[in-house]
Amino acid sequence: MALLTTEALVLRGYKLGETSKVVILLTRDRGKVRAVARGARGVRPRYQSALEPLSEVRVSLYGRQGADLLRLGQAELLHSAFRAGTRSLDAALFLSGCAELLDAFSPDGEAEDRVYRLALAVVRAAEGGASPELLGRYLEAWLLKLNGLYPPLDRCAACGGELPAAGSLSYHRGAHGFVCRDCGPASGPDLPPESRRLLASFFRSPPDALGEAVPAARAVEAFHRDLISAHLERDLRAPRVIREVAREALR
Ligand SMILES: [Zn+2]
Repeated sequence: MALLTTEALVLRGYKLGETSKVVILLTRDRGKVRAVARGARGVRPRYQSALEPLSEVRVSLYGRQGADLLRLGQAELLHSAFRAGTRSLDAALFLSGCAELLDAFSPDGEAEDRVYRLALAVVRAAEGGASPELLGRYLEAWLLKLNGLYPPLDRCAACGGELPAAGSLSYHRGAHGFVCRDCGPASGPDLPPESRRLLASFFRSPPDALGEAVPAARAVEAFHRDLISAHLERDLRAPRVIREVAREALR
């Protein structure tokens, strides 16, 4: 009998032996798990597109409770992240960036329904045509917030005083948050007013209602990268890969 049958999002996989793969799944019921998918590679791969990044699947998992590595039985594809044929390089990069973020922020074996629902909503919004750049920043903002790592947008992190309701925000690394003018000078980065408005909209809107504020998202990117690498104590691969692809394209 299966240890667990659950819905899951595929995060990534790596090769094992000649014909198998280890897949990392974000399961709805058990959080992040690793499972061996026998026969997932080779001339007649068993699971086909079910194991692509951010595919939504229903899986049966076998093995001992608490084992580091489970065994994948059935994997029924419920929803492919992007319909075949609409998959561009941008879409593929976006999906692998999202999967990497979710992987980095999800501890093994701890179910977090809000993270699962967030991931589904972001993937669906991307399919619906929302800007991948905005959605990337949205996912980062929420993963940071759900982990208690997002500094408040309305309070000074040093003195606790209220920040002016509008205008730019100055981040100060030493204070782990935005600081008022009295508590400056801040280390930076500074977020212009339109980026601040964008962040505020992230925290009150679903991902399919973000609009088109792409330039404002650009200033947020460096700020998020700072918060994320401080938390993970390493850089994520995805932004680097994207920069390398952009450089290749310019040659
Ligand atoms: Zn202050």
